[in-house]
Amino acid sequence: MLIEYFKQYMQVTCNITDKSVDHYVTGINSINTLLEKYNFPIIDIFAVSSCSDLDAIKIFLKTNPEFLNKDSIGHHMYSVAFNHFYRFACTDSDFFRRGINRMDITVAKPEIITDTAAQWKRNQIVIAHSIEGANYCCEHNVSHSTFIARSSGKAYMEGHHLIPLKYQTKFNCGIDVYANVVCLCPVCHRLMHFGRDSERRYVAEMLFDKRSARLSKSGIDIPKKEFIELVIA
Ligand SMILES: [Zn+2]
Ligand SMILES: [Zn+2]
Repeated sequence: MLIEYFKQYMQVTCNITDKSVDHYVTGINSINTLLEKYNFPIIDIFAVSSCSDLDAIKIFLKTNPEFLNKDSIGHHMYSVAFNHFYRFACTDSDFFRRGINRMDITVAKPEIITDTAAQWKRNQIVIAHSIEGANYCCEHNVSHSTFIARSSGKAYMEGHHLIPLKYQTKFNCGIDVYANVVCLCPVCHRLMHFGRDSERRYVAEMLFDKRSARLSKSGIDIPKKEFIELVIA
């Protein structure tokens, strides 16, 4: 999934051709091959789910002679590709704050389909970008305040999947996507999981009205009634 979002990010931010984007993807895939060769615990950069994984890869690459040699022969295309991906995943919060809806694309359905919610891996990078995209405001009500989080120095907020990931099997495209993640204050987040149905329905309807266009751009075309049923099921 991150590979698709990375391509979109490169197109939006660098305004480059599909061919150049593919060039970066090829560069990252060569790094993946190298990671596997050296038995590094993470062997697919596009499958990372947190920035600490990328930090670990960064440190490995900086000290791996084969990589340094390959990179220097290749006019630094490998490190440039990695740095673009790192910027996308971990440091370009400004981009997401300026309009995360530019990233709404249909994403392929994950290959491994399991039937329990616990087995779906949530991508923490997608969650972090979604919170940035909402400017650290509760999307149920922007006046909800929390406290300043130690890690970000910003208001503490949580990412919530509107359509729970356990319903992935019902869709032909991925649903762990930006359009399906909302930023909520911890109270509203708990409400969506543990509140009474009447209140959950109210919030779900409001969020559907805000998100339906983005969901549909991401391939998730769902009538309101069916959406509400999945959200508050
Ligand atoms: Zn949630
Ligand atoms: Zn709230």
